[in-house]
Amino acid sequence: MSQDLFQAPDYYLLDDLLEDEHKLVRDAAREWVKREVSPIIEEAAQKAEFPTQIVNGLAEIGAFGPYIPEEYGGAGLDQISYGLIMQEIERGDSGVRSTASVQSSLVMYPIYKYGNEEQRKKYLPKLASGEFMGCFGLTEPDHGSNPSGMVTNFKDKGDHYLLNGAKMWISNAPFAHVAVVWAKDETGRIHGLIVERGMEGFTTPETHNKWSLRASATGELIFDNVKVPKANLLPNKSGLGAPLGCLDSARYGIAWGAIGAAMDCYDTALRYAKERIQFGKPIGAFQLQQKKLAEMITEITKAQLLAWRLGVLKNEDRATSAQISMAKRNNVDMAIKIAREARQILGGMGITGEYSIMRHMMNLESVITYEGTHDIHLLITGLDVTGLNAFK
Ligand SMILES: Cc1cc2nc3c(=O)[nH]c(=O)nc-3n(C[C@H](O)[C@H](O)[C@H](O)COP(=O)(O)OP(=O)(O)OC[C@H]3O[C@@H](n4cnc5c(N)ncnc54)[C@H](O)[C@@H]3O)c2cc1C
Repeated sequence: MSQDLFQAPDYYLLDDLLEDEHKLVRDAAREWVKREVSPIIEEAAQKAEFPTQIVNGLAEIGAFGPYIPEEYGGAGLDQISYGLIMQEIERGDSGVRSTASVQSSLVMYPIYKYGNEEQRKKYLPKLASGEFMGCFGLTEPDHGSNPSGMVTNFKDKGDHYLLNGAKMWISNAPFAHVAVVWAKDETGRIHGLIVERGMEGFTTPETHNKWSLRASATGELIFDNVKVPKANLLPNKSGLGAPLGCLDSARYGIAWGAIGAAMDCYDTALRYAKERIQFGKPIGAFQLQQKKLAEMITEITKAQLLAWRLGVLKNEDRATSAQISMAKRNNVDMAIKIAREARQILGGMGITGEYSIMRHMMNLESVITYEGTHDIHLLITGLDVTGLNAFK
């Protein structure tokens, strides 16, 4: 990739809404992405490899458990700082942000929220430092948008649980040390279990041939009569609301993250439009290209406001799941549309790895599908405003 010249757009001077700590955290993440992610990410994506060398750096900028209290190794930050870290990481690459989101919101969050003190002390500091990497197993081959239909199950065998089933599309699965797995007990109630690599009967085959999120490792989780110690059951919440609570936290991070991808595409296209000469003048001087750029910065600004307000509500513990759905849906849709338009501004150059746009565009095809598809989030908003369920 050519040199990272990124300059963050802030059309409505939204920095004024941020506290000094937010800006410090954001700027540290921004600098780190420029220094450590931008130079290596294109090659990692081309090779379809997660760049393990950035794990320590992710831990250092507070990307693993930004809002988990410091006594458990987390960064103890607020929700806006968490969002800003996700924004900056996804500015670099959605796959890297996915790894951080899973670690923070889908592994550390449930252990912190639904686990007991022993589990928190055992796992959280190691997950915060990156010594342990985690994954989250909810989706199954036959149950994606409808996780309540899951068939993965466990039976009480006296001194342990016996876990059987399979999960697919699991980010971080191929290298994770621990998996938070959602499975039904004998009564059909959903619980979270912490499954560790090395437990007999537990395997994590990698999913190959992805055209999207290539720098994030994806795999299956297979449970063939896995004996899980009883101490590994998350005791403090059960039912579908438990995994959905984790998804709320991750979706909130995605709403911010998508802004990062969009900002990078816009910034690249703006610079290119001012430099690329056709018909004797910069292509940015043509009305058609200005329309694209003007609409991009308008949509980015609206998305920034949405995310910031949602962050304030989250800090006050007032954000609803439906509000989070709206922001995830809107901001990812905004980003993917900007990526497509920005790619066109670069003409043929837009399809090369010299620029980040095509990689962002392909990554966002996963982001618009995972953690609740674009359609499912619309149905959540529809249900929220009408009170009528259109899922079934
Ligand atoms: C790269 C990647 C990483 C992922 N990482 C994880 C992970 O770490 N952990 C995890 O558990 N999962 C993960 N997922 C899974 C992801 O959350 C699911 O792919 C997603 O929830 C959709 O499920 P599905 O693919 O089975 O699609 P389906 O549920 O089969 O949906 C197919 C289509 O039908 C539509 N649809 C479904 N139901 C309805 C309805 N009621 N009304 C209208 N339309 C409907 C959907 O919107 C979609 O367009 C990942 C997925 C990808 C691609």
